Amino acid sequence: MIKIEHLKKEYPGATPLQDVNAEIRDGDVISVIGPSGTGKSTLLRCINQMEKPTAGKVWLDDEEITDPACDMNRVRRKMGMVFQSFNLFGHMTVIENIMKPPMELLGKTKQEAYDNGIRLLRLVGLADKALHYPDELSGGQKQRIAIARTLAMDPDIILLDEPTSALDPAMVDEVNAVIKHLASSGMTLLIVTHDMSFARDVSNRVFYMDEGIIYEDGTPEEIFNHPKKPKTIQFIRKLFVIEEDINGRDYDITDLRKRIYELIIQMKSFGRVWNSTILLLDETIHNVLIPMLQDPFHIHVRIECRKNNVLLFFDYSGQAVDTASLIREKAAMALDGTNMDDPLILSAKVISTHAKEITWCRQEGELINRLQIEVK
Ligand code: ADP
Ligand code: MG
Repeated sequence: MIKIEHLKKEYPGATPLQDVNAEIRDGDVISVIGPSGTGKSTLLRCINQMEKPTAGKVWLDDEEITDPACDMNRVRRKMGMVFQSFNLFGHMTVIENIMKPPMELLGKTKQEAYDNGIRLLRLVGLADKALHYPDELSGGQKQRIAIARTLAMDPDIILLDEPTSALDPAMVDEVNAVIKHLASSGMTLLIVTHDMSFARDVSNRVFYMDEGIIYEDGTPEEIFNHPKKPKTIQFIRKLFVIEEDINGRDYDITDLRKRIYELIIQMKSFGRVWNSTILLLDETIHNVLIPMLQDPFHIHVRIECRKNNVLLFFDYSGQAVDTASLIREKAAMALDGTNMDDPLILSAKVISTHAKEITWCRQEGELINRLQIEVK
């Protein structure tokens, strides 16, 4: 068990940790989330004493490890650390990388370190890479080796600082699978991550860090679905919202599409709804709104991804035009087959097909139209 009491870390010009208090129980799998620069990495480094806290205490079982008299080497053996950049020795083979720490620090014989190393390579699914050099491996494989090397020290807890954020998206899953396996085998883990679907999936507790403290602590269900405190609410809401400003006729949807794909990967939700979302955005922006608006114009697009639906909001300047009714009327015209030379008719038909609901409103006193489309 780890107990953190009034932990503070001050740098000249920044105090990332103001007053951190927490208890980590054996078998806990805790995801640490929060905006960049809120001290998540600093917290991990202060827990394993890679950095000396300015104030406060950290206890590992019954031992105060912030006590200067404490044997740090022994403590670090109990706390493994996995970094974003794998830190493997390039001049050593994979198995040598894994054998080195237990031989040097735990006094294991070569045979013991080798046998255990092979067992761990099997665990991370890379037994066939034992004699390869790190450079011959992919990023995902390197990170799995780094995890095996950490396990070779038989730690009580592993601290992972964004273990997948330096990886190609295609390799994230293989590393996450290894971490998930450790979690389910009862290993205590503290994982700093931006991968929210993984955090939700793997952990029993989530720490939201902000303002130099663990601002909110709860189960994944509590933090992701029912956050209580204002900054957590704001952070969680933003995770599932994409916003975009459009100011010119030559607007290109490529970048927006890319951001949507990133969100899809993040949410691990690959349903038909996303094709419809992109189609609806493209048709509405290029074929309904932009041709209708007069220069200079402004469209603010907001995509909200909720649990069971996706909502699109288009706020646009200019005089009141009920685009929802317009789309419905034109879509109806498509049905009787007349007037097909009006390009808006085809677009309206596509939009109606992929939308569950289309509404328009204009706030009195505000010169902004809002078209809202719920994706089918
Ligand atoms: P996070 O991991 O949440 O992104 P960090 O713990 O890396 O945040 O950093 C928190 C703050 O502490 C940042 O403002 C960063 O600039 C500052 N910081 C981190 N390490 C140092 C350092 N060694 N010296 C000075 N400032 C630092
Ligand atoms: Mg960090």
